Amino acid sequence: MQTVTVLGATGSIGCSTLDVLQRHPDRYRVFALTGNNQLEKLMEQAKACSARYVVVADEARYLDAIALAEQYGVTSEILCGAKALEEVSSDAQVTTVMAAIVGAAGLLPTLAAVKAGKRVLLANKEALVMSGELFIDAANQSGAEILPIDSEHNAIFQCLPHTFSYGQFAASGIHQILLTGSGGPFRTRELSTFSDITVSEACAHPNWSMGRKITVDSATMMNKGLEFIEACWLFGATAKDITVVLHPQSVVHSMVQYTDGSVIAQLGNPDMRTPIAYGLAWPERINAGVAPLDFAQMRDLSFDSPCYERYPNLQLAIMACEAGQAATTRLNAANEVAVAAFLEGQIGFTRIAEINQETLNRMEPTIVSSLQQILEEDQKARQMALSLVRGLR
Ligand code: NAD
Ligand code: MG
Repeated sequence: MQTVTVLGATGSIGCSTLDVLQRHPDRYRVFALTGNNQLEKLMEQAKACSARYVVVADEARYLDAIALAEQYGVTSEILCGAKALEEVSSDAQVTTVMAAIVGAAGLLPTLAAVKAGKRVLLANKEALVMSGELFIDAANQSGAEILPIDSEHNAIFQCLPHTFSYGQFAASGIHQILLTGSGGPFRTRELSTFSDITVSEACAHPNWSMGRKITVDSATMMNKGLEFIEACWLFGATAKDITVVLHPQSVVHSMVQYTDGSVIAQLGNPDMRTPIAYGLAWPERINAGVAPLDFAQMRDLSFDSPCYERYPNLQLAIMACEAGQAATTRLNAANEVAVAAFLEGQIGFTRIAEINQETLNRMEPTIVSSLQQILEEDQKARQMALSLVRGLR
């Protein structure tokens, strides 16, 4: 029996995780669910899975949460705040933590789970992009099992040889990782019209249903850029080990190309319950509730290479990956600020990449290694990006 904490239970990944958990009550019990502001949904979830704890990240909502818990007949203990998120991630009774908070807000609770040696199902890619080496070192020290939930990294994990050890590409006969991405809703849109892109157009992904931030990141392909950095840290790759491939149908979730000419791919319907179930059950397999791929119905699978003029954020991320931890932390922070400003209608679509680029340009190169330095760099880059959003610089 695994005892599971779901960080970010009310989000897209959180809901898919609860769906899989509820299909297997004999294997999993829920320890804690956490959420930020959709408290009604959080209480419904807590009741349905008899969670022991419910954590409301925003302390200002604590009294609302207590009142709602009573109204919904929720018997879970209600906690709040950042420390409580870390506590339910590292509690001795917990075996498994789904890290599905969006953005930098997920870093500390995810790291707490890693340091406590849990099985960590990593959806929150921003945490790894920010803290890379520190995160991997902490996992090595504690013995935490990091299982990638991002569909591409989960696919790569499935396609690597069982004997693969961290960073050993040539020794494992691997030529390269082929990281696939759909190219989002604007893959064929006339470039000259990009400044007219609306929030609802950017929030309409052709294949995947996801939270708003990652959906905008998919439209700019910053998502693929963050995933490029994520792949480097997860598998010990360098930039030359990874090629991004456009694949509009999102059926092939990524591939590993071997030196003997073989390519091993993982395919499936675009449904996050597949990688979630894989991470939960690994090394076994369980039913995820996902429809099987129907090859009789499948239309063409096509592939292409991405154009950086269309996706400047992808190029920025690959350059930041080569530049090091300070650059990736800053880029992630600037992008969170710029995407939030775009979603609030404060800036246009093309300003996202410009603000990201300007934030990197205006900050001096530096080396960050401690958690303290990473959090400081994150804050400085947020302030820089925010002043660019407001037109103060
Ligand atoms: P979402 O916006 O649907 O959900 C985010 C969750 O985080 C919610 O439960 C929300 O309450 C919580 N949250 C937000 N701000 C918080 C804060 N300040 N403190 C604590 N909790 C907070 O996002 P999502 O689409 O589920 O994505 C979650 C993570 O998984 C992201 O890092 C995303 O990149 C990654 N991911 C998502 C998908 C997908 O299909 N949705 C696929 C791959 C990776
Ligand atoms: Mg992905």
